[in-house]
Amino acid sequence: SIISNHLPTDELQALDAAHHLHPFSENEALGKKGARVITRAKGVYLTDSEGHEILDAMAGLWCVNIGYGREEMSQVAARQMLELPYYNTFFQTTHVPVIALAAKLAELAPGDLNHVFFAGSGSEANDTNLRMVRTYWAQKGQPEKSHVISRKNAYHGSSVGSGSLGGMTYMHEQGGMPIPGIHHIAQPDWWAEGGDQTPEDFGLACARELETKILELGADKVAAFIGEPVQGAGGVVVPPSTYWPEIQRICKKHDVLLIADEVICGFGRTGNMFGSQTFGISPDIMTIAKGLSSGYAPIGGSIVSDEVASVISACEFNHGYTYSGHPVCAAVALENLRIIEEENIIDHVRNVAAPALKAAFEALEEHPLVGTINMSGLMASIQLAPIKGSRAPFAGEQGAVGYICRENCFAQNLVMRHVGDRMIVSPPLVITPAEIEVLATRAKAALDATY
Ligand code: PLP
Repeated sequence: SIISNHLPTDELQALDAAHHLHPFSENEALGKKGARVITRAKGVYLTDSEGHEILDAMAGLWCVNIGYGREEMSQVAARQMLELPYYNTFFQTTHVPVIALAAKLAELAPGDLNHVFFAGSGSEANDTNLRMVRTYWAQKGQPEKSHVISRKNAYHGSSVGSGSLGGMTYMHEQGGMPIPGIHHIAQPDWWAEGGDQTPEDFGLACARELETKILELGADKVAAFIGEPVQGAGGVVVPPSTYWPEIQRICKKHDVLLIADEVICGFGRTGNMFGSQTFGISPDIMTIAKGLSSGYAPIGGSIVSDEVASVISACEFNHGYTYSGHPVCAAVALENLRIIEEENIIDHVRNVAAPALKAAFEALEEHPLVGTINMSGLMASIQLAPIKGSRAPFAGEQGAVGYICRENCFAQNLVMRHVGDRMIVSPPLVITPAEIEVLATRAKAALDATY
């Protein structure tokens, strides 16, 4: 078969162009260029069909936290496929992997986040959240408390519901988003939007837009606020220290549920199990996916508080997915969590990898093309800027320089993503200091080629 006995690269690319529609891609242009065919991966390195060894500084899509090629994961999946490959949890049945995973997540999640509703992805989990918070308030006799507030440039998924929660205008331009009842306030991106304010003042001003919006709509109309502890796809927007405490205060004051979208930040990325812990947030609901299984199997979910669960549990919540709590995915996620804990991967992030990345990127800050570095744990972005010491953007199309730099990274066998003119890094959490040195050396070469 094509899988076990690869065709030559150009034939694979031709078949790909003929039959495969890629997400978030201009498929016609991609078809002409030919997509790079990734054939295998181990640790932090990908191998393509031409034998290049590529350092994956994006951990796939911010998800392969334990690194590629872990034998234990494949064994657990194979065992579970034989024992019980599938069963649903809709009609008064359950199974061992989903019970074990829900209990484990309740143990790991902070505060009274003790209940998990499973989904197949982050998008599905955020769709769940949208329906869950509205159902919560309806159950409490306040069906009009249904509006949800999010941020501009947020990313919460690609389905109609989660894409509406997201604040990406280029997504809203296609396919009828956002749906009614969802509102977007400023993102706490000091570099791009802070003007003359200090980061601290700007953080407070952004958070206070939430209160303004709540008062405009009426607190009795607002169900929830959703935010990523650190906006990932928006460009690794690390909020000023004043931001999250003020958001938390406003949500409490106006009885608005707080949803922390931990799809990227969860499972160690920021140096704690959850980004909420890094930023001192006590959410009512956390969205999880990606690092939950390190991308080895598609699984996501919503971890909710005792209070939210008790209200939702008192009615029939008519919501769920065929693959909610899929046994193979749940078993794989559990094994992933075992590896994260037993190998002290979060300590490694905090004490070894994040400091090494910080040191390497601080050296890159001298580069004439680099404006600033944004970083939280092992997620970071390099802001490209035309004038040293100024936050002015490049003239012409935003993102054009970032695109060139991304291509130059590719030429260096380094996968970095660009969001506008920010170069994104989110490597597997197991990356070693020596591998970080390789990453930084290749990144510098790509910056040099772009300058
Ligand atoms: N939420 C955040 C913060 C994300 O970064 C993503 C994906 O990148 C999602 C939700 C959507 O997750 P998925 O792609 O699994 O649907």
